Amino acid sequence: MKGSSARATGGQPRRRLFALALLLILSLSLGAALAFQAIQTSRRHRETAERALEDYAGFAAFILASQTYRQLGGAVVQSLGSWQPGVGPGAVPPGTTCEGGTTYFEQTSGSHTLHLIGASLPETVTGALTDTLHNAMNLLEEVGWRFRYIRIHTGPPDGFFLTSFKEPNGEYGVRGFSACLAGAESPFRAIMLSEHALPPAIAGSTPADSMFSVAVTAGGDRQLFHSPVSYASPFEGSARLGTEFGDLTLAVQLRADIANRLVIGGIPSSPTPLAAGLLGLSTLLVVTALLQLKREYELITIRSDFVSNVSHELRTPLSQILIFTELLKLGRLRTKAERDRSLDIIDQETRRLIRLVENVLQFSRSSAERRPMQCQDLGLPLVVNETLDAFRPLAAARGATLRSVVPAASSVKADRSALRQIMLNLLDNAVKYGPKGQTVNIEVLPINGRTRIVVDDQGPGIPLEDRERIWQGYYRLQRETNSAVAGSGIGLAVVRSLATGMGGTTWVEDAEAGGARFIVELETGNGEGL
Ligand code: ADP
Repeated sequence: MKGSSARATGGQPRRRLFALALLLILSLSLGAALAFQAIQTSRRHRETAERALEDYAGFAAFILASQTYRQLGGAVVQSLGSWQPGVGPGAVPPGTTCEGGTTYFEQTSGSHTLHLIGASLPETVTGALTDTLHNAMNLLEEVGWRFRYIRIHTGPPDGFFLTSFKEPNGEYGVRGFSACLAGAESPFRAIMLSEHALPPAIAGSTPADSMFSVAVTAGGDRQLFHSPVSYASPFEGSARLGTEFGDLTLAVQLRADIANRLVIGGIPSSPTPLAAGLLGLSTLLVVTALLQLKREYELITIRSDFVSNVSHELRTPLSQILIFTELLKLGRLRTKAERDRSLDIIDQETRRLIRLVENVLQFSRSSAERRPMQCQDLGLPLVVNETLDAFRPLAAARGATLRSVVPAASSVKADRSALRQIMLNLLDNAVKYGPKGQTVNIEVLPINGRTRIVVDDQGPGIPLEDRERIWQGYYRLQRETNSAVAGSGIGLAVVRSLATGMGGTTWVEDAEAGGARFIVELETGNGEGL
């Protein structure tokens, strides 16, 4: 019955809450999917831009390597072409001369002797050069190189430029000169400064040495040249200088902070932090909304339980009143004692009904709607005794004895009917939750300028963890779930709200003889109301 009434009251709103929660979760998932999509798209854009930048670096390396090949190669060919037998070339390409000067050499095909002109070379170098030339002779003859750069030594000179020539007897000889490409006046530096590595449409007017750092290495490890400034960057490319230069490689590193200018629209920045931040924020909002919905759900449950509990509480006294009124009307009660007892029951149950209705009204009205408190000086002996007298029949019906200790001079500043309602609620709980035959003690204790009204019972008491929660509206202890004791969970909330309204405080502790001790502390009166 209780359950079906709760369902009837709360079913619709509950379904709406579920639908709302579902919608919230769906929109969060949709947001997450969109954020994921945005991150993916931007990652693809970024990857494309990065690939383009790597291509630019590779392209720049290729252009610079081709220029080097053309300019340096052209100058070498020109030098070797202007060779005068026994003398050497008119000049060597700028930037290739070693500190001690250039060594020229000539070797005819028939001879094993290297004819050296100009600066001398260490013997080891001369020996290695002679062997290399001997081995290379056939190759030079067959392929007919315009020139060739060979490395045979790790220190200066870096290597030798050489070419083949046809002797008058039709055989091939070799001519060449030493070169120091790693020198301060490296030819690569000049080329780098003079060339546009990228088309102006991409690079604008930025000079090559502001866009790239360039390194030329021999055999992948020995560095012959490095541009003065070195840019660390993930965008790099390299190109071989051309077959004639042997194993020389030119590597380019694109300056990272200029890379952004080279891609139309710039390198897309990763939206992940922003998307993650926004997603986190929406998750937070959705979680807050879901918590709010959960709270709504709990409230709906509480309210529907409350309606069902109040109806249940109303039904018992009403049926009692009905039964005894009918018995009286039908004249079924013969003796005066029976009739008096019936009237007593009708009287008690009516009072219970009134108290319940007062509690519900007090609880459901907002503070603005409540009757204003009329606090005055109240002599406690009178008020407590009146209240106990009114309550005694009910206590007696439940086999409880009421005992009170009220100092004759005690008084409080309180609203009379509020104070009565407070005491009746506490007494009602004491007899409701305590055992049959118990004694309920009411004591008034003036302490430190304030006065405590204490109600002790011999019931099960209140577990520590519930001592604050029981003062909240609708809250009933777990043990009440299946008990026969009817209640709506608002009695103590009313007690606290009334006491607070009069500047008082309320709490619960263990009674000395076991059971619960409820305490209401109010401002002490000045004794005028005694
Ligand atoms: P109700 O009695 O209508 O359920 P109350 O607000 O008066 O609501 O009390 C809240 C809960 O506190 C009760 O349901 C009961 O579990 C517990 N309680 C109140 N008074 C006592 C008491 N004197 N002894 C034991 N438990 C009590």
